[in-house]
Amino acid sequence: MTEQQQFDLIVIGGGSGGVRAARISAGHGARVAICEESRMGGTCVIRGCVPKKLLVYASHFAEDFEASQGFGWQLENPQFSWPALIANKDREIDRLNQVYHRLLDNAGVTTFMGRGVLLDANRVQVGDQVLHGKRILIATGGRPFTPAFPGSELAISSDEAFHLEKLPRRIVVAGGGYIAVEFAGIFNGMGSDVILAYRGDKILRGFDDDLRDQLEHEMQAKGIKIQHHSEITALQRNADGTLAVTYKDGSECQADQVMFATGRQPYTWDLGLDQAGIETDAKGAIPVDADSRTCQPHIFAVGDVTNRINLTPVAIREGHAFADTEFGNMPRQADHALVPSAVFSQPPIGTVGYTEQQAKDKFGRLRVYQSSFRAMKHTLTDIQEKTFMKMIVDDASNVVVGLHIIGVDAAEIVQGFAVAVKAGLTKDHFDATVGIHPTSGEELVTLRDFRLVE
Ligand code: NDP
Repeated sequence: MTEQQQFDLIVIGGGSGGVRAARISAGHGARVAICEESRMGGTCVIRGCVPKKLLVYASHFAEDFEASQGFGWQLENPQFSWPALIANKDREIDRLNQVYHRLLDNAGVTTFMGRGVLLDANRVQVGDQVLHGKRILIATGGRPFTPAFPGSELAISSDEAFHLEKLPRRIVVAGGGYIAVEFAGIFNGMGSDVILAYRGDKILRGFDDDLRDQLEHEMQAKGIKIQHHSEITALQRNADGTLAVTYKDGSECQADQVMFATGRQPYTWDLGLDQAGIETDAKGAIPVDADSRTCQPHIFAVGDVTNRINLTPVAIREGHAFADTEFGNMPRQADHALVPSAVFSQPPIGTVGYTEQQAKDKFGRLRVYQSSFRAMKHTLTDIQEKTFMKMIVDDASNVVVGLHIIGVDAAEIVQGFAVAVKAGLTKDHFDATVGIHPTSGEELVTLRDFRLVE
């Protein structure tokens, strides 16, 4: 082993949260090291949000080509090449990976490409080097979780879905969360036969019930077969390389791929946490306080490894707040309230604030405004897809406490309106805002009819 190198901060994990923390800390004058065992950029950039959204765009063209005929276009049998898409996507991810390296270099952060393992509360081993840090930040993210059952090793996760050599003709996606519905939409759009096998009775648990119903309806209308109360209990490889799928009720089906999207686990194993005196909770996550501090005063953790709100922009804020607090003499905490989010399902979902049920439990009497309409973009086409919007107002204060949209551009619309919800604006503020015509978003400033919930 080489002589110990001394740092003010060692960051373990080069994803969104770790890279932000490293760069900002270095900018505040700290001597910073970051280690990454895979590729700089982490889940979001390398095998998550970014490549996923590129695949969502790609898969939507089939519907767009069809819709274009209503607008007068004639297309001669458009052809899709999965290998071309994957190669182009890989090129873009390579570019972003380089951007991350450059950002770190420019900030003066020392990069170690290798797995970081805690030797004790101050030392991290990367390959044959031992680094000594006055502070340590753990930002190792999460990994896909697949339940154990006979043949489970034959299933892929989202990690492998990004690198399939060919588009599966038939795929079963297990799960009913963000990743399952997004990939079901992607493969369906590409032309695969898709079964979504979900163990519960309604997908996207935790989201507003009306949106969940609407998404199930739209996914089924687009050809995805949603199986409720459906659990895969065995997989077997057939002689021709395809898979035989057995469900809990004894039924079977054949598929070319089976993808599990049954949640993600904090990536805390084999990290040397016990050697540093850090315990994990029942889910394997590292417990931290509002300053992202672990039980060791000089060891911190941000992002999915802490299992707070597992979203990239949240990890970035946690990492930034940590850096400003510890090295910038600007103490502050990441704010986890009213975080907007999106599901890039087809159609997409955008949401901020409380669901109707959560709002009812918290505020009591509510006014719920909702609207359902066919987006103008679809009017000249055969697409019957509906946009659905729901605004939840606390009746006592008149404050808008929840906004939930499913339909064309939902994520873009909610990003803008989330500022208003975060600012605690009232329904009167929404009403006083002039709409932009013709848009879908203008609906949110013209909602008049409501139902009382108490
Ligand atoms: P989720 O936690 O969202 O969903 C997991 C799904 O798998 C649920 O439907 C759950 O069912 C089901 N499930 C869990 N365990 C089992 C099991 N043993 N057998 C069968 N089904 C099971 O996880 P995802 O993997 O979809 O996503 C992980 C996280 O990544 C998300 O929580 C999110 O924070 C983040 N993410 C965000 C995205 C975005 O912002 N657009 C996109 C993708 C991921 P049940 O409902 O019954 O518990």
